[in-house]
Amino acid sequence: MSELKRINKTRKIIRKIINEKGRKEIYDLTGLSGGFEISDSDMELLETYVGPAIFSEQLNAVGISHFGGSPSIHKAVGFNRTSSAIFSTICALSKDIKTVVHFVPKLPSHPSIPRSCDIFDMNYFESDNLQEMLNKIDGETLTIITGATMDHKMINLDDLKEIIQYCKEKNSIVFVDDASGARLRLLYNQPPALKIGADLAVSSTDKLMNGPRAGLLSGKKELIDKIYSEGLKYGLEAQAPILCAMINALKNFKLDNLKDALKRAKNIDLSSLVNAGLKYEKTPTGFIITNLSDEEYINIALKMLENYGIITITAGGMPGASKTLRIDFCSKDAKRISDEYVINAIINSKNNNL
Ligand SMILES: *Cc1c(COP(=O)(O)O)cnc(C)c1O
Repeated sequence: MSELKRINKTRKIIRKIINEKGRKEIYDLTGLSGGFEISDSDMELLETYVGPAIFSEQLNAVGISHFGGSPSIHKAVGFNRTSSAIFSTICALSKDIKTVVHFVPKLPSHPSIPRSCDIFDMNYFESDNLQEMLNKIDGETLTIITGATMDHKMINLDDLKEIIQYCKEKNSIVFVDDASGARLRLLYNQPPALKIGADLAVSSTDKLMNGPRAGLLSGKKELIDKIYSEGLKYGLEAQAPILCAMINALKNFKLDNLKDALKRAKNIDLSSLVNAGLKYEKTPTGFIITNLSDEEYINIALKMLENYGIITITAGGMPGASKTLRIDFCSKDAKRISDEYVINAIINSKNNNL
């Protein structure tokens, strides 16, 4: 099945459930639920020129703080997606830099990074081996570090600090892709990216927090100006409604909500999955099934949606997103269903598939 066909099929099933039973029968367990909190007073400002005038300043303040930066040296701006922020960064830096070196806690990387490098004819090297990647870093490279992968595998703090330090010695710009990592790392007491010396960091306000799908980019002022200008040329910058929802999500973000998901993930008993022939790994805020083929994951995910109303990234995710079947307890929908409901949905969808 092509990626677009899968997405359309998923949307069709969601439409059917919403029309026949209503939103309450949908359980979004992707960990990306696209929260959109705006107040009546915000509504008046959702205009093309008025909105960004007000919201850019507010986003700057809360955005810098989310990454542990300082208003005297850093700036923060909003993009439509994390992928758009990554694209704009690589586009803006491609004039001076020819090679991107990327460390991922576990391969593969998010596709937005290699795809952007490809467009600008940059050499691209990715690795989960620390020494191998350090050897490639010099003053001519942009170094990207993924804080946590799509499957929520987190970087080790010593590795993160060592790479940043090495980049400083070698004069390489260092950019942390902290899409989910900004909050996952915080949950494990790791410091935010700008606080430990990254030049740039990006995060998704949709991941492990109740914000819109958008990319918050922060870092050294002169770099941000250059990257944001480039993004404006291609229409990648977030507009007033998104900026506003990003600000509210960042202001309302509470680590305690994540701690509940962490506890649930830690305590959930998954032995019946093993009895049903499935292998799993726990993630900080949920779990993933690891022993099936991409096609099997997709078939099971579509059945889970159709018969149990459970949305996973496997079913609805963007092209190139990881296909492993991942369950995340961060979203508000997760609170409305039991562990048994989720486990039964997986097992029955698997048995019904094979
Ligand atoms: C999710 C993710 C992205 C892209 O986020 P989008 O909102 O889909 O553009 C980039 N990098 C990593 C590590 C991610 O997990």
